Amino acid sequence: MHQMYEVVIIGGSNAGMSAAMTLGRSLRNVLVIDNGRPCNRQTPHSHNFLTRDGVTPSFLSAVAKEQVLAYPSVQWVEDTVQRVEQLADYLLIYTINGVQVQAKKVLLATGVLDDLLPIPGFAECWGISVLHCPYCHGYEVRNQYLGIVGNGDMAMEFAQLIRQWSGKVHLLTNGPSALTASQWKELEAAAVPVSTSPLFAIRHKEGKMYQLVLKDGTILPFDAVFARVPFKQSPLVQQLGLATNEQGYIVVNAFQQTSLPNVFAAGDCTTPMRSISTAVAQGTMAGAALNKYLLA
Ligand SMILES: Cc1cc2nc3c(=O)[nH]c(=O)nc-3n(C[C@H](O)[C@H](O)[C@H](O)COP(=O)(O)OP(=O)(O)OC[C@H]3O[C@@H](n4cnc5c(N)ncnc54)[C@H](O)[C@@H]3O)c2cc1C
Repeated sequence: MHQMYEVVIIGGSNAGMSAAMTLGRSLRNVLVIDNGRPCNRQTPHSHNFLTRDGVTPSFLSAVAKEQVLAYPSVQWVEDTVQRVEQLADYLLIYTINGVQVQAKKVLLATGVLDDLLPIPGFAECWGISVLHCPYCHGYEVRNQYLGIVGNGDMAMEFAQLIRQWSGKVHLLTNGPSALTASQWKELEAAAVPVSTSPLFAIRHKEGKMYQLVLKDGTILPFDAVFARVPFKQSPLVQQLGLATNEQGYIVVNAFQQTSLPNVFAAGDCTTPMRSISTAVAQGTMAGAALNKYLLA
């Protein structure tokens, strides 16, 4: 007989730990399983989370862990979940280290896996000078020389947004342009240069870029680059057959419940509105909803 938990939370970062706190305070018997790879782990300073502006992500997660694990009904294990099976009355969770546990409900707080561009320097600069979100990191690079990686309609919207922080921006389509003639005109009128040559390399010192090199040999002395990259979901999403939307996010209702009634999801795996505050808020909602559904 495997150990039975009321809730197993897969992913112990912002969304997962927030749910664990709500459930621990509700005296629920919870196991958090986490493999220690939150998406923001490389960023030196986390911003735009009230009362914690500018701290390191590792400080945030250390405080979260200390506070959540103070609730005696919450347990934590460092491991990777490789399979979840929905049986008649409960779910079975298997990890790569051979742990098998049962749960009445599961919360997926697995985040997403960013598919970084395979050019030298891109991964090393991710979160330091290659940035995904201006609300998190735009203020720190205000008025600097910024590249924007994007193409077509998305690039127009992204360029307009980033110009809020700097008038010195340069659009990089990273290959043949998908911009319309009127979009080219709009960018010209706004004094936004466009390069269509693919990105070749980023030259940097400990993640802080000083030059971006294009395949045609152009060297651009950017201070930072904003890029929206594709992402992958945890394989558990497909394995459980959870419904996802057109953009690839897990479909949840207002209580963070997925298309499988005993499986809930919170945080980056459910929304493009990527921020710590959003993940924490969704985790709190999932915790309260899980408690309510367990009562039923
Ligand atoms: C580079 C970067 C910088 C950012 N900077 C900011 C910022 O300054 N301010 C801000 O508000 N937001 C920032 N964000 C966004 C913010 O980090 C995310 O929105 C937030 O971390 C989402 O929390 P989450 O719990 O959903 O996912 P994550 O924080 O990504 O955590 C997911 C967790 O699940 C675990 N996991 C995944 N699969 C498994 C599995 N099968 N088994 C066990 N564990 C698993 C992972 O190891 C990880 O610990 C940044 C994002 C990035 C990418």
